Amino acid sequence: MLRFLILLIFSNLLFPVSISYATEVIDKTPNNILIYHRFNDNRFPSTNTTLEQFEEQIDYLMTNDYKFVTLNQLVNDPDMMDKSVAITIDDAYQSFYQFGFPVLKKNNISATLFLSTESVGSSDFLNWTQLRELLNYGIDIQNHTHTHSHMPLQTLVEIENEILLSQKIIMDNLGIKPDLFAYPYGEASSAVQGIIKKYFKAAFGQHSGAFSFNDPYYIARFPINENYGSLERIKSSSTVLSFKHSSIMPNDPFMKIPQKRFVLDFQENPSSINCYFSDFQGSILGTKTTMNTKLLYELDRMPVPGRLRVNCTKIDQGTFWYGYQYYLN
Ligand SMILES: [Zn+2]
Repeated sequence: MLRFLILLIFSNLLFPVSISYATEVIDKTPNNILIYHRFNDNRFPSTNTTLEQFEEQIDYLMTNDYKFVTLNQLVNDPDMMDKSVAITIDDAYQSFYQFGFPVLKKNNISATLFLSTESVGSSDFLNWTQLRELLNYGIDIQNHTHTHSHMPLQTLVEIENEILLSQKIIMDNLGIKPDLFAYPYGEASSAVQGIIKKYFKAAFGQHSGAFSFNDPYYIARFPINENYGSLERIKSSSTVLSFKHSSIMPNDPFMKIPQKRFVLDFQENPSSINCYFSDFQGSILGTKTTMNTKLLYELDRMPVPGRLRVNCTKIDQGTFWYGYQYYLN
């Protein structure tokens, strides 16, 4: 046994662990998700993408040989994906039908639409006839609640009712049963996730990060809008790679009591991984220590109410990007 241990230690010295990480990197390809809301509607720059930007972005992705997939394709076979991008559109605004959809159609591209059922048919939103047309074309239509609520603030009964009602309305009007879910505003909690797991096979946030199935009920997507709509943004969002393993503590995305301590574990040598924290007031600096494969962060100040974003990156034959978002009440 002792001899085995000595051999093991010696072989680790000869073949440093980082070499095995590097071989993992080589067969990775980027598979990422973009979120859009409104198209060519300059009343809301933070959720809008101009037609010119959208055409330029699609053109870039096509020219660079990205394969367009729906979220269902991505989720069903994450290991089979090879340089893919999933376009997702939240909320089903009229402007998608008017400006975004024709671009997809012209290029024979599919996408995933997250629908809040209460708003269907009201001004600014798609109606059922239009939604049926999208479905017939091949748009993957999925669930985004009934009322587009702040879910962590709802009771468990209210959350369950949101899901049951929206699933029924979608079934009654489109004849389909969604199996994917997107949290309105990207706001989730462990309690909300507990209910979502009963009805859906995966759920999506609204925080930046490479696509990964490590946390299937809080998957990152890159928001694209007028301010974050440059080709550089599309380029970085489509090329980043996901860490093979990732976890964060605390792991409830709804933070009831503000916290300054975080533990991240990528199950690899963490020395070249750096994490950045930011909230409404800007970036929050902190002290980083490492312990085996873990990264421990102690922030210099408490995060303020609202969103706390965590982004961790590593550059190693490509950029690896892990993203997480907390919602502080
Ligand atoms: Zn939404």
